[in-house]
Parts: sequence; C-alpha cells; structure tokens
Amino acid sequence: MSPAHRTRDIERQAGYLKPEHCAPPPPRSGAGSMWFIRDGCGITCAVITWFLVFYAEFVVMFVMLLPARSAAYSLFNGLLFSSLAFLALASHAKAMCTDPGAVPKGNATKEFIESLQLKPGQVVYKCPKCCSIKPDRAHHCSVCKRCIKKMDHHCPWVNNCVGEKNQKYFVLFTMYIALISFHALLMVAFHFVFCFEEDWKKCGTFSPPATVVLLILLCFEGLLFLIFTAVMFGTQVHSICSDETGIEQLKKEERRWAKRSKWMNMKVVFGHPFSIAWLSPFASPDYGKADVYQYIV
Ligand SMILES: [Zn+2]
Ligand SMILES: [Zn+2]
Repeated sequence: MSPAHRTRDIERQAGYLKPEHCAPPPPRSGAGSMWFIRDGCGITCAVITWFLVFYAEFVVMFVMLLPARSAAYSLFNGLLFSSLAFLALASHAKAMCTDPGAVPKGNATKEFIESLQLKPGQVVYKCPKCCSIKPDRAHHCSVCKRCIKKMDHHCPWVNNCVGEKNQKYFVLFTMYIALISFHALLMVAFHFVFCFEEDWKKCGTFSPPATVVLLILLCFEGLLFLIFTAVMFGTQVHSICSDETGIEQLKKEERRWAKRSKWMNMKVVFGHPFSIAWLSPFASPDYGKADVYQYIV
C-alpha cells in the first residue's frame, strides 16, 4: 500500500475534517512560556480555593493558636498546619500551571501522518476540534481546547485538566487539603473543650461571639473539604492503581494497554524509585525513566 492510500484510510477513519481544513499549527511556544488555562469559571474557583486556605490559616493562627496558653502546643500545631497548608497551595499551583499532557495542536498534517510509518490497516484518530492526531488514551477537553493524554477529568478547582503529566500534583493537592481539614477540625474540637472549661474571655483575642462564628465557619469548611478531598484522593489512587482514568471508567472502555502491577502504576505517576519526593510538589517525576522501568516489577 502506498503512503497515499494509507493517508486516505486515515482520513476516512477520522471522519469529517481533512488536514487541509485545519488551521496551521500555532508557532511553537518557547520553553519559558507557562501553561495556564484562561477560563473565567476555573480562575474563580482557583482563587476561592486559595482564599479558603488563607481563611483557615488565619483562624487557626489568630483565633486558636496565638491566644492559647501552651506555647509548645501552639508552636507544634502552628508549624504543622502552616507547612501542610504551604504544601497544599504549592501542589495546587503546580497542578494548575503544569501542562497536563497536551497533544501538539494542528499536527494532523499529511507530512506528520506519513512520518508515523503506519502499518496497513492501522488506524489513527484525528481530533476534529483541535486538528491533532490523537494518541491512544487521549481525550479532547472542551475547556482546555486541546487533546490531553490520559485525561482523567477537567477540574475547575485547579483550573486545569488532570492528565498524564500533572496527576501527581493533583493527588498531592487533594491529600494535603484533606490533611489540613482534618487537623483544623481536631484543633477546633480541642479549642471548644479547653474554652468551655475556662472563661471564654481569656480564651481568644476576639469577642466570644466572633470567635464562635469564625470557628463554626472553619468547622463547616473543614468538614466539607475533608469529605470532598478524601473521596477524591481515594478515587484517584484507585484509578492510578488500576491504570484506568476517570473517563475510561465512565465510558467502560475496553482495555487495550498493557497491564502492570499496582505498585508499578503508582511509580509511573509518582516517579521511580519510591522516595520522599513522592510527597513533594516540587519534585517532578521523570516520566522517561518511569517508562523504562514500567515493565520491571
Ligand atoms: Zn482535540
Ligand atoms: Zn481541560
């Protein structure tokens, strides 16, 4: 079969848009340019997320810990809460500003298709919306306006898709938010116990009604986010271990990819080998390396 035949096959399979009808690919952006989705709803949600973390930090420090009697208790909890909150916000920023695995836009050109050296009968799929050749397990996201490799879902809270290259940061974000929510709830419980025994006036810089309102709001926020992020964290870890994205589970897609052990699937997302770097939003997993090791258990 000649290359021309193969291209025709591809066009028929991929459907309604011929490569010529695609806009030319945009000029390649430099390595310095940052990935950021300009979506009003997503940006609002991301700002709300940061605001809520800062609100929790404010109440924990200024309503509960600074007026507390024990300096050791305040120092320990203040440091722990602030470190976890910092890691949560850092994971959020990394999840938001990391390319989730976008397929180059407009690469469905005749030259590119020919360069793939397809075997006769082999089918490639072209995305009619962003004019790219869709690799296996990639899906088009209408918010990002791009095809994303191993797209799990588009999360407005991090204003980005969760895909192959930023899933680690997203999982860390849900984990740290769940941890600070749990920690805040524990501290609120302790605060109520201590302050009911003591005189309310000695137990805080704010007036008792203001203190109670601030604490109840924190309780509400903590409970809501603890449930939401803990469930999300569990779902994400399960989908990483079973190597099935959220979209694939929803669509009940047939598995066409190699099956690996659960531990190996974790390494593909978090990096190889297992280390403390798994918990750090600042360490980017070496995906090339993980690929080499992915069949070693
Ligand atoms: Zn697409
Ligand atoms: Zn998206």
